[in-house]
Amino acid sequence: MPRDLSVEIASHRDLGGGNHLLEVEAAPLARETAPGQFFMIGFPGADTLLRRPFSVCGLPGTFDGSSRSAVHVLYKVVGRGTEHLASRKPGSPLSILGPLGRGFDLELGAGTEALLVAGGIGSAPFPALAAALGARGIRCTLLYGARSASDLPLLDWFRARAPEVIVTTEDGSAGTRGLVTDPLRERLARGGNVRILACGPNPMLREVAAIAREASVPCEVSLEARMACGFGVCLGCVVPTRRGEGGETAYERVCVEGPVMPAEKLAW
Ligand SMILES: Cc1cc2nc3c(=O)[nH]c(=O)nc-3n(C[C@H](O)[C@H](O)[C@H](O)COP(=O)(O)OP(=O)(O)OC[C@H]3O[C@@H](n4cnc5c(N)ncnc54)[C@H](O)[C@@H]3O)c2cc1C
Repeated sequence: MPRDLSVEIASHRDLGGGNHLLEVEAAPLARETAPGQFFMIGFPGADTLLRRPFSVCGLPGTFDGSSRSAVHVLYKVVGRGTEHLASRKPGSPLSILGPLGRGFDLELGAGTEALLVAGGIGSAPFPALAAALGARGIRCTLLYGARSASDLPLLDWFRARAPEVIVTTEDGSAGTRGLVTDPLRERLARGGNVRILACGPNPMLREVAAIAREASVPCEVSLEARMACGFGVCLGCVVPTRRGEGGETAYERVCVEGPVMPAEKLAW
């Protein structure tokens, strides 16, 4: 059941490149949120009327030294709301509604390797996810793509924890020059019992879904969509999906039926 809480910023780190890691103390959210779910965060006193959606990035234990009620959000400044958020100091009030939506399937089965495919700030849900999968004994490989080195926040966190991290950047400033889908194709060509869990810009997700389909590998994607409410009422975030044997188009809400959806269900 989502809760609407008033909280204060506990810590707020500028990670460079417009990326920030925000921490709040919210015991009910820390207990009840699953990796891939999200919060609608409001900024009391700001002129942004609508709350903005952000994935849970860290739960208790994800980041060293965090308390048992700590919840982290990783965000990138892209517009008015995130610009305003970036100016807020520890102690500032926030409103936070959540947990919302459907998270990643954590029951991967013994011996399955998780391929986490992240595009830039699309890495936001993966620390909490990698920690939860790691606790279940699932091996995770992170394929982390971005425009340039400054768009790879938390790369050090992943390098310290994931058994394998493969980095690509479009400008070649970190890792291999190219797109994250290049190493994904190479990895799938090696075969094995793998499952893809992806988050990033929708064009990247579309390509990842096509690669997964070709290789007959199960794939879940965490979608981004503009949304006003976050709990299924405004219908601003619907996406076309296929349903039934005939594959009829049906519209589903990213905020309720997603944001994580099986890739094969989407009518890209
Ligand atoms: C389920 C979900 C989880 C998300 N998790 C994160 C996260 O963990 N970290 C993070 O940095 N961002 C996340 N986002 C995107 C984030 O919500 C937007 O970046 C944010 O709302 C922008 O607010 P703004 O006021 O700064 O930008 P605005 O002034 O509203 O818009 C600035 C630009 O960003 C684009 N934009 C705004 N909202 C979205 C959106 N929802 N999807 C795609 N483009 C958008 C606009 O088209 C415009 O070009 C998530 C979105 C969804 C739907």
